[in-house]
Amino acid sequence: MSSGISEIEPASAEPIVFRWYEAEVAAVTVVTPRVKSVRLRCAIAGRQRAGQHVDVRLTAEDGYRASRSYSVASVPDESGTLELLVEGLPDGEVSGWFFDSAEVGDKLELRGPIGGSFSWDGPDGGPLLLAGGGSGVVPLLAMLRRRAQVAPDIPAALIYSVRTRAEAIALDELEARDRDELNFSLFLRTTREGEEGRIDAALVRAALERIGAPRKVFLCGSNRFVSPAADLIVGAGVPATIVRTERFGE
Ligand SMILES: Cc1cc2nc3c(=O)[nH]c(=O)nc-3n(C[C@H](O)[C@H](O)[C@H](O)COP(=O)(O)OP(=O)(O)OC[C@H]3O[C@@H](n4cnc5c(N)ncnc54)[C@H](O)[C@@H]3O)c2cc1C
Repeated sequence: MSSGISEIEPASAEPIVFRWYEAEVAAVTVVTPRVKSVRLRCAIAGRQRAGQHVDVRLTAEDGYRASRSYSVASVPDESGTLELLVEGLPDGEVSGWFFDSAEVGDKLELRGPIGGSFSWDGPDGGPLLLAGGGSGVVPLLAMLRRRAQVAPDIPAALIYSVRTRAEAIALDELEARDRDELNFSLFLRTTREGEEGRIDAALVRAALERIGAPRKVFLCGSNRFVSPAADLIVGAGVPATIVRTERFGE
């Protein structure tokens, strides 16, 4: 799908998160065989809290429109851009456009940032327990990037379930954080290679032992990942009331 947006909508009384803003593709890079990083230049860049998402809207030349949500991977900076990490799904209408067609200079629209309860910043404190499946790691990556900037003393653990190491998003960055940041631990599980398989009670216990009782817990991924992961975490004694979940699909 191409995008035929020509100009930003006129100023209106609508709250900023409900307005659509023009955005331009500033960079596209390959992250894994299934995921691309897309940098978008837009007036709303820099307004996000870590963990929030934006809605993306594409408009075809015949006027047909499609919109989807994508977590913001980047933390606010001076670049005037924000980074999305998009997994190209087979026959995916919007992810397919990002993955196969998007080029620097293409226009689209964004609104947001959205999702105040699934977000974190330094003053919210920790310890921080994060669990992500597949591309569900994206908002958690933003939280870890923010934590490293503003609150590196807060203990944090990321349980990350992914099919293979080659499909893990930002694995180099996460392993470097695990190695270099005193209070962060990565617990990676690959479900289609190696012998460890899916996350289990022992892995959750190990993460909890590393950080102590969490005060903030964020889980993100498909339903198939989030529901059992939440059960394991609550089963390990974490109060359900502090567990925040975001689901990306089946
Ligand atoms: C709050 C939120 C944040 C999100 N953040 C991200 C993100 O950071 N990165 C990212 O890649 N995606 C993210 N998603 C998912 C994204 O919104 C789309 O659902 C996804 O890109 C598929 O859209 P599509 O138009 O390409 O596929 P569609 O054309 O809608 O569907 C194509 C096929 O894929 C299946 N499908 C749809 N969605 C998914 C899915 N999520 N997983 C597996 N199969 C699916 C459909 O059943 C269909 O068979 C997020 C979703 C939400 C709700």
